[in-house]
Amino acid sequence: MRANYRMQRLFVPDDLEAGRRFETSPTQSHYLANVLRLAEDAEVLVFNGRDGEWLARISARTKKSMQLTAVEETRPQPPHPDLIYCFAPLKQGRLDYLVQKAVEMGAGVLQPVATQHTQVAKPGIERLRANVVEAAEQCGILAVPDVRESVRLDRLLADWETDRRLIFCDEDADTNNPLPKLSALQDRKLALLVGPEGGFSEDERRMLRALPFVTAIPLGPRILRADTAAVAALAVIQATVGDW
Ligand code: SAH
Repeated sequence: MRANYRMQRLFVPDDLEAGRRFETSPTQSHYLANVLRLAEDAEVLVFNGRDGEWLARISARTKKSMQLTAVEETRPQPPHPDLIYCFAPLKQGRLDYLVQKAVEMGAGVLQPVATQHTQVAKPGIERLRANVVEAAEQCGILAVPDVRESVRLDRLLADWETDRRLIFCDEDADTNNPLPKLSALQDRKLALLVGPEGGFSEDERRMLRALPFVTAIPLGPRILRADTAAVAALAVIQATVGDW
């Protein structure tokens, strides 16, 4: 079921059930009161990543805080998307964009990966999580993607669950069209790997291509920036073997 786009949607940590009352965070309270100018009895949608989406009513308002009461479930909790998106972290502005877009495109897990040419060794996980929540609020996703701690590429591959196919965006592929390789995939469990701005090293590319669970795909004749490559790859994956 697609989300209701007319109502404000908020992520809350609280359990949700009919009649449950809870306070919104100071930032959310400020937003509801001073930006949206919502008064008592106004309605919003809330979700916590576990209990589906709920209609909630503003049941009390003070200068600093808002109390909401959950009224009824509007959408049930969907299963968590099973697509793992592995990416080399970029510098902050592009990283925020990349996380937002990956969530919108249906990634279920965000896995930062340190490669030889990665610019940012340890991305701020809390900031990544905040971006994930904001994107979920904005695009109506109820199963909030997980953000994992950063790992090195060799560790990631050594620990790989081999029944999950890793789709590797290879800027050095010798064809342009990713569709034949993608549409031949039988695997239900999928992951995507996109490299850093500096690309993969020759060693990394050789290691990846030799692994039985890796499928290398091209993304057309142009070199895309890593954030663009992620959106393009997620779009073709979702359209061929994903949920579009
Ligand atoms: N600096 C590198 C490009 C890196 S682009 C170079 O000039 O060669 C960043 C990442 O986006 C790449 O590692 C790859 O995963 C992906 N990518 C970009 N363009 C691509 C393409 N045409 N085909 C497949 N992957 C691509």
